[in-house]
Amino acid sequence: MNFYKRLFYADAAAHFLFPEVCGMCENNFIEHGLPLCKNCFSDSVGFQEKGRCKKCGELLYNSSCSVCSSRKIYFNKAFFLYNYKNREKHIFKMAKFENRHRAVNFFTENFLNYLKQLLPQNINYILALPSSKPFLEKLLSFVKQDFQVDFPFIVIKKKQSKFMHAKDRFLMIENTLSLKENYKLQKNIKYCIFDDVFTTGATLNSAAKLCNENGVLIKNIYVAALLRRDKKGIDSL
Ligand SMILES: [Zn+2]
Ligand SMILES: [Zn+2]
Repeated sequence: MNFYKRLFYADAAAHFLFPEVCGMCENNFIEHGLPLCKNCFSDSVGFQEKGRCKKCGELLYNSSCSVCSSRKIYFNKAFFLYNYKNREKHIFKMAKFENRHRAVNFFTENFLNYLKQLLPQNINYILALPSSKPFLEKLLSFVKQDFQVDFPFIVIKKKQSKFMHAKDRFLMIENTLSLKENYKLQKNIKYCIFDDVFTTGATLNSAAKLCNENGVLIKNIYVAALLRRDKKGIDSL
């Protein structure tokens, strides 16, 4: 029994003795095995593609995509598990920052379905961004892997001003990723680059660009994120 499974059983006992209040509504007790109370945890619908760009998931405006029409996109298609909504955001934060196993569990179960979405594309190699490493490793400890996972990217520098214009931030992030020295990508393999949350897609696109510069055809590069966040309040790029 792995560490997280043992935790799950310990949690069942603790739950019985000390019921916990839902962190989202702070009204009801959480359901056993779920990260939230029953009200907050109503059935999930998954990522809603309607009205969105089929390639990058951006909300369309006058049936055109402001992201894809304003820059070169170095990936074939982006996959998302959920829209970044209240419930998912809450559970994600619990899973990533508080290491709450019930929340990790939630993503694990759904991650399996998510991978089935990717696998018909014959993607057998997942390249993960450094920022997603702790979380992805946690998820993968549950999931029987039919594919390889690697962490080939390194961050060269990360200097961001809070006041930086979104456009500058896009350009800046482009300079921060690099492939590990001597890392070889294989020409005839389909890769999927993974990150936790996709907002502007700048980091994933620059990772995809790196792969393309290192010999992978754009049609063989996919990107994936657990959550697709809409850039509300950020100027469109
Ligand atoms: Zn609740
Ligand atoms: Zn697009």
